[in-house]
Amino acid sequence: MLVSLFFALVGAIVGSFINVVIYRLPRILRGESINLSLPASHCPQCKTPVNIRHNIPLLGWLLLRGRCHHCKQRISPRYPLIELLVAGLFFLTIYLHGVTPQALIALLIISLLVPLFFIDLDTSLLPNRLTLPLLAIAAGSALCGYGLVSWQESLLAAATGFALPWLSDRFYRWRSGKAGMGMGDMKLFAGVGAWLGLEALFQVMLVASLLAIISALCILRRKVGETFPFGPYLVLASVIGFFCFI
Ligand SMILES: [Zn+2]
Repeated sequence: MLVSLFFALVGAIVGSFINVVIYRLPRILRGESINLSLPASHCPQCKTPVNIRHNIPLLGWLLLRGRCHHCKQRISPRYPLIELLVAGLFFLTIYLHGVTPQALIALLIISLLVPLFFIDLDTSLLPNRLTLPLLAIAAGSALCGYGLVSWQESLLAAATGFALPWLSDRFYRWRSGKAGMGMGDMKLFAGVGAWLGLEALFQVMLVASLLAIISALCILRRKVGETFPFGPYLVLASVIGFFCFI
């Protein structure tokens, strides 16, 4: 329990870095001259740098009562919520699996899945800089004998995770002449396959599709034919898959 709480604390700190990635990576990819560490965190409204005390995960936002201390502009509650989310996922992983190589690898993969979820939600992009490391970590750990499944299954599931969406996309393009699924989704599917194995991959595909269909039915305002990001459903299904199907 104490060890799990320690990892929750680590998760909150990782979560605050993930906030930076979610905010800055799409801007870096658009060619803005910033990187992940420079310039230092600042209020997007008045550009006043955030002081160290207010940069503490969760507590900083509470101390500020959700407003910039300089210009009183509201700071989105999404920042502390993402820190809380990552802390919770880290806690749950260690609580359920203990401090094993597989659990530590899961923490790395979760640290890539969370920014993928929010970046795809915000920008409809699944950057290679997150999907490819995820695939490399998942396949690499299986090859070293620390995977959730054997390396043979891991590689087979990675190939299946890429090939099935790719084939269905080809078919969709051939029938409709329009692009179906993005390449980012296929790379993410490959990474999730390499991580969770073949059986869990199929369950994840099913859950992700069901979640996407349900939410498409719920959001009736969305115009027909409008593209919507699939990545968030895939990430959600993968996290559910890790905690429920493994
Ligand atoms: Zn401000």
